[in-house]
Amino acid sequence: AMAGVVRAVGAADYLGQAAAGGEVLSQAQTRAARQQRHAQGAPEHRGAPDVRHTPNLSLEKRLAAQRIAQDLLERVSTLTDLGLGYLALERSTPTLSSGELQRLRLATQLGSQLFGVIYVLDEPSAGLHPADAQALFEALQRLKAAGNSVFVVEHDVQTMRRADWLVDVGPAAGERGGQVLYSGPPAGLAAVEASQTRAYLFAEQAPARRTPRQPRDWLRLEGITRNNLKNLDAAFPLGCFTAVTGVSGSGKSSLVSQALLELVGAHLGKVAGGEEAPQLDLEDDEPQSSGGRVSAGLEQIKRLVQVDQKPIGRTPRSNLATYTGLFDQVRKLFAATPAARERGFDAGQFSFNVAKGRCSACEGEGFVSVELLFMPSVFAPCPTCHGARYHPETLAVTWQGLNIAQVLQLSVEQALPVFAQQPGIRRALQVLRDIGLDYLRLGQPATELSGGEAQRIKLATELQRNARGATLYVLDEPTTGLHPRDVDRLLEQLDKLVEAGHSVVVVEHDMRLVAQADWVMDIGPGAGDQGGTLVACGTPAHVATQRNSRTAAFLAQALAGN
Ligand SMILES: [Zn+2]
Repeated sequence: AMAGVVRAVGAADYLGQAAAGGEVLSQAQTRAARQQRHAQGAPEHRGAPDVRHTPNLSLEKRLAAQRIAQDLLERVSTLTDLGLGYLALERSTPTLSSGELQRLRLATQLGSQLFGVIYVLDEPSAGLHPADAQALFEALQRLKAAGNSVFVVEHDVQTMRRADWLVDVGPAAGERGGQVLYSGPPAGLAAVEASQTRAYLFAEQAPARRTPRQPRDWLRLEGITRNNLKNLDAAFPLGCFTAVTGVSGSGKSSLVSQALLELVGAHLGKVAGGEEAPQLDLEDDEPQSSGGRVSAGLEQIKRLVQVDQKPIGRTPRSNLATYTGLFDQVRKLFAATPAARERGFDAGQFSFNVAKGRCSACEGEGFVSVELLFMPSVFAPCPTCHGARYHPETLAVTWQGLNIAQVLQLSVEQALPVFAQQPGIRRALQVLRDIGLDYLRLGQPATELSGGEAQRIKLATELQRNARGATLYVLDEPTTGLHPRDVDRLLEQLDKLVEAGHSVVVVEHDMRLVAQADWVMDIGPGAGDQGGTLVACGTPAHVATQRNSRTAAFLAQALAGN
């Protein structure tokens, strides 16, 4: 909208237009206007005779206005090119997503006309609709053409294909990764057998087309009003895997992560998995709520679970084992050993969060913070337990030759044979392995986990719980930050949830995932005021043929296996 206002002034023929329109004041009119302003209390600028003495809309003023407008227009159009046209100018930066902030910084750089700079971008295409990713790619090309180098960490296959140089690191995650497998032009990666990226880059693994499931029933929402959604009606199929698509700012997150969650959540009580309400800035608007109602299908849903990428805990006291409930079972095993019984140790003895058996020097943290004057404090391993987190007496108790600290050091993969005879623990470990997290240590602190890892741990925990009544799972861009190999694993897990009778709704940009959905809802067609309507819905194959959908062409490509 801003661009529209400024464009008229910035246009090349603005100078002529204004003069022809008779809007330029004569000398006498200017003097009269100045006296009038002065009479109302405005300064007369007698000491600086040149100030304000140019007539209204004089050539000088028009030139100045045009200069400012053109500069403004360039900045604004860079923002719209990068898919940020929907942001309000007054939007405070802390409320932006990390992807939006990164593109905002990029826009600043594009206007700077620097050269010889190395730009490093971490997943710039994350959270971008393929149409917006195209604009981003062109922006990066402009940086390159201006004489800069651009280094990008990226999961998007299209971006990889277009790179001038490709570095593949792996082969797997964690301890089984860390090697540079290939460095060269993209085509050369085809010869590197150890690369997991290779298979996706050269489309050897075109996803198997599958027959979309039939909806068991429909969850109908009517009169949804939220942000740019105006009195929208939408129906979500139940017992299906639904993907909601649309360009950035089209209203898809308003529909799913706000309206759907709030309207259904209001009937079911609290939304499971959702964090406490975010702290509001004083500058923020009043928290909005969604208008509309659920008109059908509610009786088919017993639970509503939001699986997001927020951390599973904010302190190192929460870790993979504690969050998944696996640690409770491990501690019971230790408490049941003869050595523990002899000493009178219960399960609490083996918790680093209870004062019983943990190291008293570091209170079970494994490290101590060293306060430095005038400097941020630093963390050092605890001098008493050397990072083991436990009291020596607790560590004297072993199970299968391992003490509790050593168990926490095991990776999921290493722990599987150790707990092979313990069905409960084994099942939890197997789910973590299946979801591609076999490289994580059981004691890996929550603070060390990425958003994508946290999300998959939440999913794994849900998969274990299972038969708890029909559940509606809502995920906002679950593939953000995931390698295509991990996207496939995620898809398998989501499929299992649907097979178990649950319903899954994802907001998604990854067309490989969208192509595998049972049902697609495309919101748009554009962003902001140009969006907010249901452009197309149906099976992926159907939506791919819709001409007015900006998603269709990209979805058709994905369906064709590209
Ligand atoms: Zn200690």
